[in-house]
Amino acid sequence: MDNSVRNTKKSLPALAQTLFSVALMAVFSFCILHTNATLSPQENTVAKTQRKTFKVVKYPTPNIAHDKVNDVKGVILHHTAEPTIQHSLRVLTVGKRKVGAHVVIDTDGTRYIMAEAHVVTFHAGPSVLAERNGCNYFTVGIEFQGNTIEAPLTQEQIDSAIEYLRPIISRYKIPLSNIVTHEMVRNAYKQKYPHRRCSGKVDITQAEYKRFMSQLRAKL
Ligand SMILES: [Zn+2]
Repeated sequence: MDNSVRNTKKSLPALAQTLFSVALMAVFSFCILHTNATLSPQENTVAKTQRKTFKVVKYPTPNIAHDKVNDVKGVILHHTAEPTIQHSLRVLTVGKRKVGAHVVIDTDGTRYIMAEAHVVTFHAGPSVLAERNGCNYFTVGIEFQGNTIEAPLTQEQIDSAIEYLRPIISRYKIPLSNIVTHEMVRNAYKQKYPHRRCSGKVDITQAEYKRFMSQLRAKL
């Protein structure tokens, strides 16, 4: 008798403790579920994309047009074909060669912002896109560090470029058909003006361009 009373006395607080723990867990789980449920699909997407951000460094280029504003209608993809990011940053900022870009994306996804989208930079040379000449004045130029003939773009470069492009595509309402490679706009120029001289290095490959575009399409 004594024993059973003692047991009951001992088991009652233990039972209460267990019940309290279960109740606490239930409330906690409800809160978590409720928090997730209150996020709209868009907010969930934003949360996902915000988790994946890359380092952004301002690295202005002097090779810009001072007399015109970029009438942004497209995007031109390039690879730098330089051995290191330091070489690329130098080539795209020295005054002598007068070449630039809006952004250079390193293999780890770091973005070097050389100019805002509304600024004209000199990255395309003689070029035609959608029947229009002089792509420098109506496109954004992206340079990927490296040489895609020797090695493909890194996943970080692709993700970082998509992160960079998403707001630009939506702000300027750029159709995907106007996101092309340097070689494509140069070839269009050659077709339009077969007798004019137009030389240039082979740029980002078609295979890498296609791989990039399929990932971009999936993430827009
Ligand atoms: Zn190029």
